[in-house]
Amino acid sequence: MKIICIGRNYIEHAKEMKSDIPTTPVFFMKPETSLLQRNQPFYIPDFTNEVHYETEVVIKINRLGKHIEEKFAHRYYSELGLGIDFTARDLQQECKAKGLPWEIAKAFEHSAPLTETFINKEELPDNIKFWLDINGSIVQQGETKDMIFSFDKIISYISKFFTLKIGDLIYTGTPVGVGPVKIGDRLKAYMENRLMLDFEIR
Ligand code: MG
Repeated sequence: MKIICIGRNYIEHAKEMKSDIPTTPVFFMKPETSLLQRNQPFYIPDFTNEVHYETEVVIKINRLGKHIEEKFAHRYYSELGLGIDFTARDLQQECKAKGLPWEIAKAFEHSAPLTETFINKEELPDNIKFWLDINGSIVQQGETKDMIFSFDKIISYISKFFTLKIGDLIYTGTPVGVGPVKIGDRLKAYMENRLMLDFEIR
């Protein structure tokens, strides 16, 4: 199983990162060990002073495929979930400045909290609203209509480079409003009024 994450898929987020608006999807990967499930607490690692939340809709691949045409991409997933792409922002900025890969900032242990339950896409609207609440305040909200690259475009693009397999996960990018977490925070992430994630930072 692999985890593919799309970067800068929302224009306002690209702007807040002072990054260019991409013309093709930007992606990177996290290992299976980055998953954090069953609402287990997230422990801030000691190698960073700035872990940011990035709330993202997650596609679960349900068929094996490569070189998938965009028009057929919808056949390759039936369920969507929600995840957090935790990012050691301080390390990421260092990596970017030096032109180095991002793995130490993105792929660390438990950097990918994921919902236990996925929702059938037929039960969700075309424009999915999702948000993150920290300690009772909404800190980030997004709508999938604001994505630069749709789910189908993302699947088609990724599958040019490697085979997608059953169970692979695609984190589809974060909307504007990323920010830091601190010890003691309680994160609750919602998709269309359903509480999808509820866990603590320690
Ligand atoms: Mg992200």
